[in-house]
Amino acid sequence: MIRFDQVSKRFGDVTVLRELDFHVERGERVTLIGPSGSGKTTILRLLMTLERVTSGTIHVDGQCLSHMRRGERRVPADERHLRQARKKIGMVFQQFNLFPNMNVLRNITEAPVRALGVPREQAEEKARELLKMVDLADKAHAHPSQLSGGQQQRVAIARALAMEPEVLLLDEVTSALDPELVSGVQNLLRDIAHQGNLTLLCVTHEMHFARDISHRVLMFDQGQIVEEGPPEQIFTEPAQQRTRDFLQAIL
Ligand code: ADP
Repeated sequence: MIRFDQVSKRFGDVTVLRELDFHVERGERVTLIGPSGSGKTTILRLLMTLERVTSGTIHVDGQCLSHMRRGERRVPADERHLRQARKKIGMVFQQFNLFPNMNVLRNITEAPVRALGVPREQAEEKARELLKMVDLADKAHAHPSQLSGGQQQRVAIARALAMEPEVLLLDEVTSALDPELVSGVQNLLRDIAHQGNLTLLCVTHEMHFARDISHRVLMFDQGQIVEEGPPEQIFTEPAQQRTRDFLQAIL
């Protein structure tokens, strides 16, 4: 479902990702761990096409994110191609990123209506179902500022799911929350992960959560994968000293 081939990303003189190769199967749930600055968020932003690779290629469901075919030629992807590729992918951010001037219902329906052309009535029906699922059925007409951080994050999750993505990207989704709100959001995501056939790529520092939801963990350092394996292995008997040091520092 996701394939990185020899992906490098530089910002000016700083190399953030170095000739990175990895793939994620359809329906697989993968967690990225590693010290701050190791390139994890950049991977998610590349997938959302919020950033472009410096070299290498990224494919999502067989579709290249950086180039497209025009006749016999391979040319840089245009905006239309990127929009098409992005439709398969949803992302939930650390800082929720809800539209502050729209109510909850509108936050959830805006993208399906505008980007997918779903009739508003149908989008609202689906949004109400999603709000029920995230336990916020009574908040459809509230504005984000009237909600707690945990509630805002649950709206953001509903908003991502409203696009019916095949791939869901989670970037430190509980790290901006008050401690007592963390488990509600994590439980919701665990249920979503275990119900559907979503492909999930998750960046988190919460190792319990990583263990609960992922099939595989990738440990990053300085833009490269230093170790990977099932969570039981990475968290209990990591092979690399770098992984042991990192886990010791955060636990
Ligand atoms: P992580 O998610 O592992 O903490 P990031 O992917 O956020 O790491 O960042 C990796 C490195 O790339 C950091 O050193 C960060 O400062 C740098 N970086 C990220 N985005 C930009 C940007 N837009 N411009 C310049 N440097 C950036």
